[in-house]
Amino acid sequence: MLKEQKVDLKINLNMMLLILTIALLAATIVLAILFLPKVFLVLGVGGPATFITAFVLLLSWNPKISMPAKVQLQAEPKELVADGRSKSFITIQLLDKKGKPIAAQDDTEVKLTTTGGKLESAFVKIPKGMEKAETVLISSKESGKIDLAADASGLDSIDIKLNFLEKSRYCMHCGTMMQLNAKQCQNCGKTPLAGTDTKVCANCEEVIPFAAKFCSECGAGQPV
Ligand SMILES: [Zn+2]
Ligand SMILES: [Zn+2]
Repeated sequence: MLKEQKVDLKINLNMMLLILTIALLAATIVLAILFLPKVFLVLGVGGPATFITAFVLLLSWNPKISMPAKVQLQAEPKELVADGRSKSFITIQLLDKKGKPIAAQDDTEVKLTTTGGKLESAFVKIPKGMEKAETVLISSKESGKIDLAADASGLDSIDIKLNFLEKSRYCMHCGTMMQLNAKQCQNCGKTPLAGTDTKVCANCEEVIPFAAKFCSECGAGQPV
């Protein structure tokens, strides 16, 4: 708490010195133009005053003061099955200018946008004193690459791409992996069942035709 106040004071002091330097420089120039005959007198007083202030400013400047400058997104995993329920854990991390993790100086609101899938929460808050927040992205049923971006006022965003992988499909009769658009199994030649009676696969909890010997979603053999 005390340390933060010190940092704030230092920033304010630097800002005041910077403003003072600019004001002195501007005043010197304006006065020198206005009092053209006495230009050397004005420059003789205003010039050194500006230099001294600028010098003090340089000495007091502390480049170590760092503030959050970027918000970085990370996803674990980056590749997930396009089944509409696979999860990726998203970390929203604050970084300073040099890319080092840094704590929020105030509660920081970050808005997340994605071109695919569903975010558990599109708005996350990184509380003051914390470096990161987390949320979950659930895949869509459409395969392909998606972009995830963060938006927080005054911060650059390091966006990421995630890949929703095409879901595998299995023959219900023999358990062979099938192409998604195949009408017939290339192994047994049978077509997928289209019955109205259904059951739930004990392995992946997908609803599948009652007569299926193998789960079409995960390929697990079904109890007879
Ligand atoms: Zn088959
Ligand atoms: Zn299954």
